Amino acid sequence: MVAQVIDGKAFAAKVRAQVADQVAKLKEENGITPGLAVVLVGEDPASQVYVRSKGKMTVEVGMNSYEHKLDAETSEEDLLALIDKLNNDPSVHGILVQLPLPKHLNEDLVINSIDPAKDVDGFHISNVGLLGTGQKSMVPCTPLGCLMMLRDHHGSLSGMDAVVIGRSNIVGKPMAQLLLGDSCTVTIAHSRTKDLPDVVRRADIVVAAVGRPEMVPGDWIKEGATVIDVGINRIERDGKNKLVGDVDYASAAERAGAITPVPGGVGPMTIACLLANTLTACCRANSLPEPEGLTA
Ligand code: NAD
Repeated sequence: MVAQVIDGKAFAAKVRAQVADQVAKLKEENGITPGLAVVLVGEDPASQVYVRSKGKMTVEVGMNSYEHKLDAETSEEDLLALIDKLNNDPSVHGILVQLPLPKHLNEDLVINSIDPAKDVDGFHISNVGLLGTGQKSMVPCTPLGCLMMLRDHHGSLSGMDAVVIGRSNIVGKPMAQLLLGDSCTVTIAHSRTKDLPDVVRRADIVVAAVGRPEMVPGDWIKEGATVIDVGINRIERDGKNKLVGDVDYASAAERAGAITPVPGGVGPMTIACLLANTLTACCRANSLPEPEGLTA
C-alpha cells in the first residue's frame, strides 16, 4: 500500500480562509474585530520566529494582533500585571504567553493567571479540566489540528483503535482526550511502555508526539493505518540540516493508509488552530454562534 499524503499545509490554508471569512462577517455584521495578544518574554530565537509568524498570520486573517515583548529579566509581578490588563481589555479575545519562559518565572502560575475564556492555547487548568470532562473548553492548538485532519480524512472516528505516543500536557494528553471524545479506544504510550512496537501495531490511528527523530519504523505500522506525525526534529544528514518527524516517513508511507509529512503536516495546522481558537473565543465573548468545524 502507498499512503495518501495528508497535506497539512493545504488544510491549514483552508482553515485560515474559513477563519478570514468569519472574521469579515463579524466585522460587517457586528462591528467586532477579534484580537489576539501574544506575550514574549526574553530573546529566545525560536520563540521570536514563532511570535513573528503568529502576528503575521493573525493580521492576514483580518484580526488585530497585539505583541508585547518584555525583556528577559521581567519580574513575575510585572508579567502578571500585564496579563491582568489583557484579561480586562475587551478588544483582546485571545492571550498567548509564548513558552518556554525564563527560568525565574513560574510557568504554571503565569498560565493559570490568564482568563480561561481568553486562553487560546488551552493550557489553563480550567480548560484542561473541562476538556477532560468532555465540556466546552479552549482546546490546545496542536492536538486540535490533528483532530481536524483525522475527522476530515475519516469522517467518523468512532470505534477506531488509537495510539498516542507521548504523554505531554501540550500534545499527548489532550490528544488522547480528544480522540476519546470522538469515541476512539485510546492507548497512551510513553517512555516506559512495554513492547511499544506491539502496542503501535494494533492501532488504526497512530499519533506520534515524542521528539525523537524517526523512532517509529514502518514495520510498527498496521497496514492501512492513519499516521499523524507531530514530531519536529532537526537533524543533519548528508551534510545538510533537515527537519524530520518522529516517524520514519519513507517506510511508514509503504504501509500506512494515510500519513502526514514533516514538514508540511501538523506544523502549519497549529497556527491555523490558534486563529480558529481566537475566533471561537471572540464569538463566545459576544454570545454569538461559534464557527462551525473549527472547534472540537
Ligand atoms: P515532550 O518532551 O514534552 O514529551 C515527549 C513525550 O514522549 C513524553 O511524554 C515521553 O514519555 C515520550 N517519550 C520519550 N521517549 C519515548 C520513547 N522512547 N518511547 C515512547 N515515548 C517516549 O514533547 P512534546 O512537547 O509533547 O513534543 C513532542 C514532539 O512534538 C516534539 O518533537 C515537538 O517539537 C513536537 N511538537 C510539534 C508541534 C507542532 O506544531 N507540530 C507542537 C508541539 C510539539
